[in-house]
Amino acid sequence: MDASADETVLERFKDVSLQVQDCFRATSNVNDIVGLMMMRLEAIVTPTPELKIRAISAQPMRLLAEAAVASARQMNSAIRETSSQVASLAAVLESGYIQCPKCQGVGEIEEDAIQRDEESVGAYTVYRTCPNCSGNKVIRISSDLRENCQQAIRGLGLLRTATET
Ligand SMILES: [Zn+2]
Repeated sequence: MDASADETVLERFKDVSLQVQDCFRATSNVNDIVGLMMMRLEAIVTPTPELKIRAISAQPMRLLAEAAVASARQMNSAIRETSSQVASLAAVLESGYIQCPKCQGVGEIEEDAIQRDEESVGAYTVYRTCPNCSGNKVIRISSDLRENCQQAIRGLGLLRTATET
């Protein structure tokens, strides 16, 4: 079964959605650490026994700061990766064509063939025009999916500007 252009676009959008989940996880880690920092600071400003006990259960501020640096780095790299995937999918949608997944954009596929003569049997490789893209290397995305996916990607465009500026 040949993979259609629309299925391939959908796979690419799924990759973007998984990448957004990574951003969310990393952001959520930073948020948790900031919450613990806040707790420690509160215990200094209002040193009630209750707040002091809660603050003691958290890591020292120095360690929280180190954890925050690590999580913030993960967050930035997740956002950068999302931004690059969004930009790359936007370019594909703009063109209206996506690289053929069957031949990986080569236009030909390799096939094993066997040659027999009276004395021996030899295996060799033949190159055939890719039946999925007819050798065109790319396949056309349906206009319905293209328009809808472009709108969806435009909605994620903010992730692009957030890292570009
Ligand atoms: Zn192909």
